[in-house]
Amino acid sequence: MKRQPAPRVWIARQITDAGGHTLDVEVSHDRRLKRNVHWNVEGTVIRVRTPEHVPEPVLDRLLDGIVAAVLDARARALGRNDAELQRRAQAINEAYFDGELRWHTIRWAGNLHTRLGSCTHGGATDGDIRISDQIKLWPDYVIDYVIAHELAHRKFPNHSPAFWAYLARYPHTERARGFIDGIYFTRGWTVDDPL
Ligand SMILES: [Zn+2]
Repeated sequence: MKRQPAPRVWIARQITDAGGHTLDVEVSHDRRLKRNVHWNVEGTVIRVRTPEHVPEPVLDRLLDGIVAAVLDARARALGRNDAELQRRAQAINEAYFDGELRWHTIRWAGNLHTRLGSCTHGGATDGDIRISDQIKLWPDYVIDYVIAHELAHRKFPNHSPAFWAYLARYPHTERARGFIDGIYFTRGWTVDDPL
């Protein structure tokens, strides 16, 4: 009888991060790799590619290190608080908008659903900016884009050409919009105006 070949892709572990999300550690053999292990995080999957014939105890130790690094980064990201958000908004205002924008509060919010941010205009709550806490784990340049977008609404409370021209002062605008489009596409969300 022929021996079954070992599976080439398998879930080696399941872990839970500081936010209660479950992550799969998916390991695969990659013949092109000689010695190094490569890994990246895609959504809730930690993809680890290893050369074939890595002894199990060695792989186990490598996974320990990868898991620790991922959990650490996620704990830091999930720990972002409103004070840090306010500092970031101030830095963005200074760096790209000549420090000319004013707002009342900027806070993380857990109830925005498919929206990423919002900014109020007029009335008693004028200038209250909320940023969805579901983006806390997104890349920094995307988070900064979402903040810049809401800040720019303080000057242009619409999506006019003048608004986009002003927001383009934030240099990663196009890249960040592409990232967000990709997320919405994979989630099957159709929202004309996510922020
Ligand atoms: Zn907007």
